[in-house]
Amino acid sequence: MTSPHRSPAEAVAGLYDSLSELPAHVCDGNLHFGYWTDARDTSTFQAATEHLTALMVERLAPRTGQRVLDIGCGTGQPAFHLASGHTVEVLGVSVSRRQIEHASVRARAVRLADRVRFERADAQYLPYPDASFDAGWFFESLIHIPDKPRALHEAARVLRPGARLAIADMFHEPGRDWSAPRPLVTAVPLDAYAPLLADGGFEVLDLTDVTPHIRVPEPVRRRLRSMMRRNRSEWVDIVGEEAVEALLGPEGDIFHTPGLGYVLITARRR
Ligand code: SAH
Repeated sequence: MTSPHRSPAEAVAGLYDSLSELPAHVCDGNLHFGYWTDARDTSTFQAATEHLTALMVERLAPRTGQRVLDIGCGTGQPAFHLASGHTVEVLGVSVSRRQIEHASVRARAVRLADRVRFERADAQYLPYPDASFDAGWFFESLIHIPDKPRALHEAARVLRPGARLAIADMFHEPGRDWSAPRPLVTAVPLDAYAPLLADGGFEVLDLTDVTPHIRVPEPVRRRLRSMMRRNRSEWVDIVGEEAVEALLGPEGDIFHTPGLGYVLITARRR
């Protein structure tokens, strides 16, 4: 239902342009789900989203002086988290220009602009030289990228041999086929990652299905939906009238997607 004149990357850029105010208001700068350890974990959504970032940083295992590529950087909070705890340089890329502007302003505000920068780039066509980064991650971004093999090849090209790659992504469960391109997401089944990564030039070090730990709490969903109502015309432009009607109708809930699971992956560039 993407408007015919928009490419998938432009549609995703439009979505995230329209969502660019959201992280500051709802998720403390993060634009990803939260991770709760177990039923006794009463963390707030903010704490749970930071927890998920901490798990991604652990997987990345960054070392002092390294250059890290944050592929699909949102408004930059994961990059700031990473650069606050480790003396690394981070370059964040996103297809959304508005996100890049927000993230760059925030980098100055949190006094990390000397080590954390943001640029508009499409993961499928990275404008960087071969082997120019020591580590990288796709933090909830691969799901929006239609040509995943190409994005993984690009990541492998710009990472040096031996570099770590961390991935947080949503996969589709058996029998719930999300492989056909939807307006904004294209999920793959869990068992697709290992061959995709191997073909892309990566060795998988760990792949963990963390679905039971991940959620978006009801109050946050309500705010997301009311935001969508307020920016209705922008959303219609991005996904089409029919999709907006469906998402805002009594049955629709874009932020609760039965059939989607959540995976964390650590890989190494061969
Ligand atoms: N990693 C961030 C944002 C996740 S939202 C966080 O965890 O807070 C998904 C991000 O992927 C958005 O920034 C979106 O613009 C970006 N994205 C989607 N498709 C992309 C593509 N083809 N190339 C680069 N970034 C992309």
